[in-house]
Amino acid sequence: MWFAEEVGELSRALRKVNPEDKKSIKHLEEEFADCFAWLSTLASLSGIKLDKTIEKYKNGCPKCNKKPCICKEKRIKLNIKNQKPKTHTKKRKNNG
Ligand SMILES: [Zn+2]
Repeated sequence: MWFAEEVGELSRALRKVNPEDKKSIKHLEEEFADCFAWLSTLASLSGIKLDKTIEKYKNGCPKCNKKPCICKEKRIKLNIKNQKPKTHTKKRKNNG
């Protein structure tokens, strides 16, 4: 399924993004766009209106009701511009 492939590409782009490299950021934006386009297509083909589905999260996280979510679940540590600096610098294994 195309959508699953795009999610894989987005995942790889998230792992490899370099906030100092504009080309890297642009690539990440494109992968988000691709995922959104396929998600929109799947919703449309299924007769689902995405704007209606977003209502689930209009008040923030459905579990903790916070924006952003403060649930203590595993989170991906990203080193992206708009996030607070992370002290966690352990390198990830490169799975491809
Ligand atoms: Zn939450």
